[in-house]
Amino acid sequence: MNQRSEDQQLAIDNLRRFLDQKIEPEFKAHGSGPVPRELMKDWTTQLAQFGLINAPHPAEYGGLGLGWQTHLMLYEEVVYTSSDIALPIVINTCAADLIMNLAPVALRERYLPGLLDGSVFASIAISEPAVGSDVAAVQTRARRDGDHWVITGEKTWITNGRYSDFLICTCRTDEGLTHILLDREEHPYEVRDVHKIALNGQSTTQIFLDDVRVPVENTIGRIGEGLRQTLTVFERARCHVGMTGVGLARRALDESIRYAQERSQHGKQIAAHQLIAEKIATMATGIDAARLLAMRAASMIDMGLRCDTECAMAKWYGTEMAVKVTRDAVQIHGGNGVTTEFPVERLAREALIFPIPDGTTEIQKLMIARALTGIPAFR
Ligand SMILES: Cc1cc2nc3c(=O)[nH]c(=O)nc-3n(C[C@H](O)[C@H](O)[C@H](O)COP(=O)(O)OP(=O)(O)OC[C@H]3O[C@@H](n4cnc5c(N)ncnc54)[C@H](O)[C@@H]3O)c2cc1C
Repeated sequence: MNQRSEDQQLAIDNLRRFLDQKIEPEFKAHGSGPVPRELMKDWTTQLAQFGLINAPHPAEYGGLGLGWQTHLMLYEEVVYTSSDIALPIVINTCAADLIMNLAPVALRERYLPGLLDGSVFASIAISEPAVGSDVAAVQTRARRDGDHWVITGEKTWITNGRYSDFLICTCRTDEGLTHILLDREEHPYEVRDVHKIALNGQSTTQIFLDDVRVPVENTIGRIGEGLRQTLTVFERARCHVGMTGVGLARRALDESIRYAQERSQHGKQIAAHQLIAEKIATMATGIDAARLLAMRAASMIDMGLRCDTECAMAKWYGTEMAVKVTRDAVQIHGGNGVTTEFPVERLAREALIFPIPDGTTEIQKLMIARALTGIPAFR
């Protein structure tokens, strides 16, 4: 367990009670289909009152100024209940950070309050059908026409797309990659849901942009600096995704412990069989190690330090750990593990997704090795 202050523990305990008593029953009652925007908004606005989204951001911008470590502690609890509900929180938190640090005052004043209180949804669109790991190769084009950008292209895998009130779109301009904010009402873009093996409650989408005109004042940060700015977004996002692995795996462990205590074979509880006990010990140790990696990254962000390498370690280790832990959880449940009567099959399907977004495991490892050797495997 990390060192938590009394205040942090109190905040976590309050949130845990709320998630168990209010959100989990509502999430179960909803089932596995797409969560309508209003219901998701209802959940995110209530969770914002417990500090989600606004905890890490400075008070001068309407945040709580509690730091990224506290935020990640709270975030782990939401994942424990539902990754579908957690993912919009990741995107809103990272979008708020980008807007706060780099957007013109008018955009900050317009979008930050709603982002922080959970009533407005952002999307961050980098990936395209032909552009995944190689983010520098973005093709979506923003051409200058007087005091407007004219944007054409296709984005894919965009989290929150169906819910989004606005999109922070990475575009190629003559000067290089640039972040441009598209308001969904004023600069409409077409959104189509992508169906996946899990996490179909929240929204992952394709986004189509066909000569969308956006005022140049909607540029976030400096024209041509989009790639550098994206690396900062990835830092924040990657420690979240690592922590997503922790929340998922912790739930799988708790379910497994309960099952191993209740289920008996060969005349004793299966927890008493040494091969099951070994699994449980390995699961618990992996979860704690992953949490420590994520919290180290968050503490560096809190100190204002650059931590691409530490975030890369937290991301790949946390998400791959969750794949192994949830797979073991299914195994511990035997036949019951592959039925929808028990949550571990859902957790195992969800865990398979997270080694992919925000840079695959392979890309994280290449980045770590590049930092250590000074020799890049890619540009
Ligand atoms: C659920 C989900 C949510 C997402 N949300 C968003 C979002 O909100 N916004 C957004 O912009 N994107 C989002 N993404 C996209 C995600 O970031 C990309 O899927 C990811 O970066 C990988 O890109 P790709 O899928 O095109 O795979 P590819 O880049 O085509 O990679 C395919 C395989 O090749 C490997 N590979 C690629 N290059 C190398 C290399 N140089 N060396 C070794 N191996 C390599 C990869 O590791 C992978 O195993 C999301 C994806 C998912 C699944």
